[in-house]
Amino acid sequence: METRVAVVGGGYAGIAAAFSLSESGIPVTLFESSKTLGGRARGLDCNGARIDNGQHILLGCYRETLALIGKTCKIPEPFFRMPLELAVDSFHLGSFPLPPPFDLLFGLLFSKGISLAEKLRAIRFMAKAGTLELEADTSVETLLEYHEQGGDITNFLWKPLCIAALNTPIETASARVFLAVLKDGLSGRGSDILIPRVDLSSLFPAGAAEIIRRNGGEILTSSPVRFVRKSSGGFEVSTDSASRHFSHAILAVAPQHLARLAKDLPEIKLPDFGYQPICTIYSQYPETTRLPRKMTGFSQGLAQWLIDRGSGLIAAVISAQGRHLALPQSELASEIHEEIRGVVPGLPPPLWQKVITEKRATFSCTVDVERPEQTTALPGLYLAGDYTAGKYPATLEAAIQSGLACADHIRPRT
Ligand SMILES: Cc1cc2nc3c(=O)[nH]c(=O)nc-3n(C[C@H](O)[C@H](O)[C@H](O)COP(=O)(O)OP(=O)(O)OC[C@H]3O[C@@H](n4cnc5c(N)ncnc54)[C@H](O)[C@@H]3O)c2cc1C
Repeated sequence: METRVAVVGGGYAGIAAAFSLSESGIPVTLFESSKTLGGRARGLDCNGARIDNGQHILLGCYRETLALIGKTCKIPEPFFRMPLELAVDSFHLGSFPLPPPFDLLFGLLFSKGISLAEKLRAIRFMAKAGTLELEADTSVETLLEYHEQGGDITNFLWKPLCIAALNTPIETASARVFLAVLKDGLSGRGSDILIPRVDLSSLFPAGAAEIIRRNGGEILTSSPVRFVRKSSGGFEVSTDSASRHFSHAILAVAPQHLARLAKDLPEIKLPDFGYQPICTIYSQYPETTRLPRKMTGFSQGLAQWLIDRGSGLIAAVISAQGRHLALPQSELASEIHEEIRGVVPGLPPPLWQKVITEKRATFSCTVDVERPEQTTALPGLYLAGDYTAGKYPATLEAAIQSGLACADHIRPRT
């Protein structure tokens, strides 16, 4: 059979795979069950504003993601990009205009809110982190204890970084994955913070879909795939309206949706993950409202991060499990308003608020977590998604890298 690829799932992973294949002139059809592309990173309309299903932050080290966005996004300057600046309670760390890793090492030395002894211990750990290899995986908490990172530096720096990057608390988070992110963050402009200026569907999916179509590929939204089966020389992909045959298939759905999709493919080993939620509370204030910083962190209270989206829209992010999940939405929203008032004195009541909880935002990135490879026991069948094997935790970069890896397997070797 001539090469024709089905991609099931129009999140960042599936779109990256389809885009990369279509760039090589390989016929590709992408099936997405929802009306919009983007999956767990998608834009939506709310009270006349454009928001996302959850506030996302990108890092300078997301090389593949930034390269693909550079190729596909039509909007000039789609990010607000800034050197790492962490403000958590009384702690403040800014990076210095020096080559990495000295930008952050000096940043730590001159940081505010922790003792000199803690700063020096943190600098020693950070200087080692770039080359640290673990013989066996362990928890981030154990790693930090071993490197004498207790007290304030853990509360103000390591805990928030671990939750932000791995969406898993330090007690159970994988030290190996944490170190991988830290290493990339310490090189180049890897630790730069990028906050999208546009919604997440416009950031990559919309532009990529347009190019895929222009290259002759198909993008079928509102097209849930009911099953994928082996057929002679390839795979049968069935939706409610049609069954079509392809030489290759990439299953790019979230791990919790894989079992249903692959029910007729016993060769696929299903991952056995725990999941972590992420809750975003959007609060719209009068247009002139500003946070003192683009991004502010908290080690106490409900919100972990407040992000100023501009035009008076503020996103509060709460990652992983916590007491917020037990609160009624209205109570959660008004507590968040009070927390925002703590940094913007005299703030009027919000014009509107919207609480979005993604219960299975990411898999729990725990010690020795087993992630399936992109290749499967069935030649021609691949898995793409932020949960598949890779050095990054469940992030846009992990999703994009996995999609590109699937495309590389399918593309004929030159
Ligand atoms: C609230 C929140 C905040 C986050 N914050 C960050 C952040 O700050 N930085 C960061 O890098 N990452 C963040 N992430 C993680 C990031 O969004 C994910 O890692 C990434 O979007 C996963 O992409 P994916 O393509 O692997 O999966 P998904 O986005 O889940 O895509 C799978 C797609 O498959 C579709 N699908 C499912 N079943 C079928 C079917 N049968 N037929 C057709 N289609 C189907 C789904 O509709 C979906 O569109 C966050 C995630 C959430 C939820």
